[in-house]
Amino acid sequence: MLHKIDHIGIAVQSIDAVIPFYRDQLGMKFLGSEEVAEQKVRVAMLCVGESKIELLEPTSPDSPVARFLEKSGQGIHHIAYEVEDINSAIAKLVSDGARMIDEKPRHGAHGTLIAFVHPKSSQGVLTELCQSAD
Ligand code: ZN
Repeated sequence: MLHKIDHIGIAVQSIDAVIPFYRDQLGMKFLGSEEVAEQKVRVAMLCVGESKIELLEPTSPDSPVARFLEKSGQGIHHIAYEVEDINSAIAKLVSDGARMIDEKPRHGAHGTLIAFVHPKSSQGVLTELCQSAD
């Protein structure tokens, strides 16, 4: 069902403040940033090899990422796995008894379709399924 880890999501107070660490000190390639209004976040992607890091900055105090930062501070927010067919991946998890945050895929950054598994069904790690744009 899963192909690989697509990216690791990291919650940050300010993308601009942390970009120099990832891009300049670690030497990762900056792939761009965009706002995902549906999730009230600004997202920046960097890559090393075929692995990506997704920086998440809240754009509103009621953003889920803002609440995460309040509770836990900056740090790893979720792990995203690439799937070929997100609808069948969701259907399989649901039929296996998993609780989903998203029972229907929604739009992520860079034209992807994403769905989150509820942390109660993913052993405490917020888990994202991610189908890339063709
Ligand atoms: Zn993500």
